[in-house]
Amino acid sequence: MIRAERVLEDVVRIRVEHPGTYIGHVNLYLIELDDGRLLVDSGFRQTAGELVEELRRLIGGSRLETVLLTHIHNDHTGGASEVATAFRPKVRMHQRDIDVIGFMRETVEGGGRQLKALGLDDSLREEVLGFFRFNLQHLSMGYEPLVGGEEFHSRAGRWMVVPTPGHTPGHVTLFDERRRVLISGDHLLPNETSNVSYYPMEGYDALRSYLGSLVLTEELGPELVLPSHGEPFGNVRERIDYLFLHHEKRLREALASTGDGNSLMGVARGISWSRGRFDGLGPIDRWLALLETLAHLQFLINGGFVETRWDAGTVVYAATGRDASEIKEVLEEIRRRG
Ligand SMILES: [Zn+2]
Ligand SMILES: [Zn+2]
Repeated sequence: MIRAERVLEDVVRIRVEHPGTYIGHVNLYLIELDDGRLLVDSGFRQTAGELVEELRRLIGGSRLETVLLTHIHNDHTGGASEVATAFRPKVRMHQRDIDVIGFMRETVEGGGRQLKALGLDDSLREEVLGFFRFNLQHLSMGYEPLVGGEEFHSRAGRWMVVPTPGHTPGHVTLFDERRRVLISGDHLLPNETSNVSYYPMEGYDALRSYLGSLVLTEELGPELVLPSHGEPFGNVRERIDYLFLHHEKRLREALASTGDGNSLMGVARGISWSRGRFDGLGPIDRWLALLETLAHLQFLINGGFVETRWDAGTVVYAATGRDASEIKEVLEEIRRRG
């Protein structure tokens, strides 16, 4: 089911429901530009046909100029190729998320070798490979990369692309400085803590990036946030305070479960997940939980709290002895300086 409502003079929110997933719904935003329309995100693959119909109605005689994808996840990109076929817009996504498509393709072609090295068991590896194959079907198309700083002019404002890496390496948001409105994608959500995932990219520390992006967002000073999931909200500072505390707790749990040495899955079992215990999660949630565990471990490794060693072909994570109370200081330093 799709519901469209005007939320700003130049922005229509398109709420796309997909009851088949726990995500439930995703919000897309259609911005009326000086020259055509800009669609932010494209919903699920399963709702693509319905979205095309709704867009025909909403766009009428105008032209869909650009589809801007905030990030690679399938609740945001699933409808892009059908929308592209119907309206021939430019499809734009940040280069670092375009690179993730390459990683998925290599992983599938390599039969999941990379996943085995991460310590995934056979059944989870098969599930993840299936998930990658599903994603590659709707992600394989031509993109025009974003780098940040691009501007889109509408009759009521000027929307600037602001990269906010962390949820994914190439996540972007759109900010209108004059009205202080942020279209936040999955970077900042009212009711959920965004998943922060490790990606095997040289020099990329996902959690460090995410926290830095939160500080940047605070500095931008949005007064209204239009998120991809949930209702529009304000009180950004309070939300960011909460997210820093949330990750501090998670870092402490991850550190505590490394102990004298533990596997990735072992550490993930020591973390309290919002959807329940690790072993009770569905396969894709377990995969996301592992990537989030890795992101926290990498942050702890870079901070000197955890070290790795190899044991019988798999990586073992162990505490170095740096005191857990110092995690708070590291986070406070980031909060002060970004
Ligand atoms: Zn996402
Ligand atoms: Zn999402």
